[in-house]
Amino acid sequence: MSLAHLLLRQAQLRPDTPAIFSGPKPWATHGMWAARSAALSMRLREAGLQPGDRVLLFLRNHPRYLELLWGLWWAGLVAVPVNAKLHPREVDWIAGNAEAAWAFTSADVATGPLAGVSVQIDVDSPQADALLAEAAPGTVLPEPFDADPDHPAWLFYTSGTTGRPKGVVLTHRNLMTMGLTYGIDVDPVDPHDAMLYAAPLSHGAGLYAVPHLMAGARHVVPESGGVDPAEMFALGRHHGPLTTFAAPTIVRRLVEQAQAEGLAPTDAARSFKTIVYGGAPMYAADIRRALEVMGPRFVQIYGQGETPMTITALSRAMLADVDHPRWAERIASVGVAQTPVQVRVADAQGRPLPAGELGEVLVKGDTVMAGYWRNPEATAATVRDGWLHTGDMGVLDADGFLTLKDRSKDLIISGGSNIYPREVEEVLLTAPGVAEVAVVGAPDAEWGEVVVAFVVGLPGTNPDVAALDAHCLAQMARFKRPKRYVVLDALPKNHYGKVLKTELRQRV
Ligand code: AMP
Repeated sequence: MSLAHLLLRQAQLRPDTPAIFSGPKPWATHGMWAARSAALSMRLREAGLQPGDRVLLFLRNHPRYLELLWGLWWAGLVAVPVNAKLHPREVDWIAGNAEAAWAFTSADVATGPLAGVSVQIDVDSPQADALLAEAAPGTVLPEPFDADPDHPAWLFYTSGTTGRPKGVVLTHRNLMTMGLTYGIDVDPVDPHDAMLYAAPLSHGAGLYAVPHLMAGARHVVPESGGVDPAEMFALGRHHGPLTTFAAPTIVRRLVEQAQAEGLAPTDAARSFKTIVYGGAPMYAADIRRALEVMGPRFVQIYGQGETPMTITALSRAMLADVDHPRWAERIASVGVAQTPVQVRVADAQGRPLPAGELGEVLVKGDTVMAGYWRNPEATAATVRDGWLHTGDMGVLDADGFLTLKDRSKDLIISGGSNIYPREVEEVLLTAPGVAEVAVVGAPDAEWGEVVVAFVVGLPGTNPDVAALDAHCLAQMARFKRPKRYVVLDALPKNHYGKVLKTELRQRV
């Protein structure tokens, strides 16, 4: 069984229901989607592609993205979705590493030919139309590829905030398990639901096409092809409440949009059923504000490319349980292990640590990658005895809630004491006028390292350093407070909205 069988099943169950939308407009029913993906798979096989071959997808969010993904899986091919905002040189490197002979691109992101790719097809070209056209009546279409569960489906290049990106091999089993548990741990889905793809389809948002197809729900690709909060709210009013995946920076923009439009939580509920957030730390102050402005429509997930979207989840109910004695700690956590995985916190030797102790987060289960693409050394270093070493540092509490501390490389050691930037950031974010912060360590002759805070003010405010210092002194140990403040207009972020601390460290 392969992921393509999910599409075949929906094409049989509800052939005529609209499945894919381009903004407000219907694009394809389940029947059309399956017919196009099956026809594409037939043509790709006729052109010589073999199961297991890699095909690059380097395009902005586009309704055809879903037809392409499922067409590749129908033929047993491996999709290599690449973030549309990468530099062409980075994409060339990925295409070469994946040895992808074919690529589907869009003109706005691929400005020239990709190195090493022999067939490059613009998704809006007549060539793409021909490849995706439904076959003539009477044509016998191929059955979906009968994949072994360990057959690769998606080669996912890590965002590479450090060093060269590595290709994470995600199998049909990995994505099937991720998809099935979505309904248990994240949010039940039914055919009336609609998933909105504003965040890149090449990343977590695209992975969530799997559970939404499993449930026969609708898929909405905004016409802007990206994150436009006004458009997202409007599409929700048009289609009925949508589900979307949002990095914390996108959540912040949605909250600002709701405030700018003067919307009440009941209005937000008309546009959004569920906003799944994750991919980077969400500060307690930010999720509190999001809940106040938009109501209980948030669920947090913690995952990484190596175990896609599936490590822990903090459910809507947990976020809403304000009367729970440990609610404040819980909303600053990433929640509890998702159903198909075991999660532990371990010491440097991989031995499990008791509740309350800080160590590396390890994960075991059917969502853990098959390995890094043609990189057995990196695989052996990262997956040991079946346990994925995430590189994230965290603490489990007695109830199984995991709180992430900073990655070990982000830890600041000042005068021999460990300082977790996240803790300082959480405090600074509760100071008036502060919109965003990032804390890093700067080398210091006396202390080894000192804490430096980069601060972005709310629109129209200019953060006052003396007031920030007083705020920190009132709330945390003296040694943890920033010795220096740098006020910025915006924090440097990568294409997925993660703050680039490496860049900030270089500045200090
Ligand atoms: P990527 O593989 O590019 O998706 O990055 C995964 C990394 O993002 C994880 O290892 C974490 O460091 C971070 N991350 C993902 N989800 C969360 C979350 N909910 N809270 C904090 N950090 C997260």
